[in-house]
Amino acid sequence: MDSPETPAPGAADSRRDPAKLAEAAQQTNWHVYRMTPTRTGDMPVALNPEAAASHVQNVIDWRINQLPPEVPLPEYIHDKLPGIYNFVAKVAGVDVDSLPELSAADDHDRHGLHIPMLGHAYIAPHATEGLPEHVEKFYQAMTESTAVHEIAHGVANADPGLTHNTVIMTPQTGGTSYDYVMTEAGGLGKTHFYTKEGTPQTGQTLSFLREGWAETLAMRYMAEQELNGELAPNYPFVYTTAEGEQLPIGPKYVVMCEGMWGVTQTSLAAYAMDMLDECLATINPSSRQLFDIMRDMQHVETQIQAQQELAATLNSLQPGLYKELTTLAYTESDMVKGYKIAQELKTLMVP
Ligand SMILES: [Zn+2]
Repeated sequence: MDSPETPAPGAADSRRDPAKLAEAAQQTNWHVYRMTPTRTGDMPVALNPEAAASHVQNVIDWRINQLPPEVPLPEYIHDKLPGIYNFVAKVAGVDVDSLPELSAADDHDRHGLHIPMLGHAYIAPHATEGLPEHVEKFYQAMTESTAVHEIAHGVANADPGLTHNTVIMTPQTGGTSYDYVMTEAGGLGKTHFYTKEGTPQTGQTLSFLREGWAETLAMRYMAEQELNGELAPNYPFVYTTAEGEQLPIGPKYVVMCEGMWGVTQTSLAAYAMDMLDECLATINPSSRQLFDIMRDMQHVETQIQAQQELAATLNSLQPGLYKELTTLAYTESDMVKGYKIAQELKTLMVP
């Protein structure tokens, strides 16, 4: 009973096969360095491709071993995929074909995941069996928002000129607890610290702004689909932290469907970007929005200029703000920290 329909762009197929994922990752541009002691301190020395090969294989294997178990992609997402891919490609200014494949995974720890090196994104669909139809619809909307968010992360390595993986091998001496520092892909790439044995990552950089960017794109999509809080602008939406603190959040960062609403941790970063934009508009009306600057950081021809613009723009609000925001990690406490920095600036600057 094969269906004759053509597959949606990016829809999961045999690309989930580990051998094919490994092959795709091998084709990426890799830079491998070894930290080597010199008289003036440790210096990264580039390895030639032959010497680098086994280390490249190590990190690819490590990534593939981390993949969560795959489950079928829900039909409601499959039907929406062409629209989602076209929306992300249009807003980000990239080719649909350069965006990551999407599949579904059984992953209780998070809603979704994007692995730049493997060109693959995952969503963990909510279990809705036995729930009333309106609740199911709400969870479907939340999952749809996650799908947009994860595919949006793929914009960072959509430009082949920016797609590379950097691995720096660090000797485990002097108190370091990792063997590799690895940066995956383009202008909003991820940096991981981990060991050859595959010990879970101990850190990432640029998380706060990267999450805010992807979530802003997801919320723009939800607005287009009329699935967010724009429908109820006076409702007091809040994000409740693990400690029970309630943080007010703008209605457009809320997924709203069938009378229910939900908000994710990364919405804090998206809302913070909005608050910072309001501050910028107050002090410099000609300033570009942070989302647009960060979009340009993901294209090779504008990357360097945009990165400098982002630093200068943030530091114009408060000296050192760029460093402060770009060193926040992907943890709830750091997301809350970034939110509070933006909220405080808005209180001070926006009349
Ligand atoms: Zn994310």
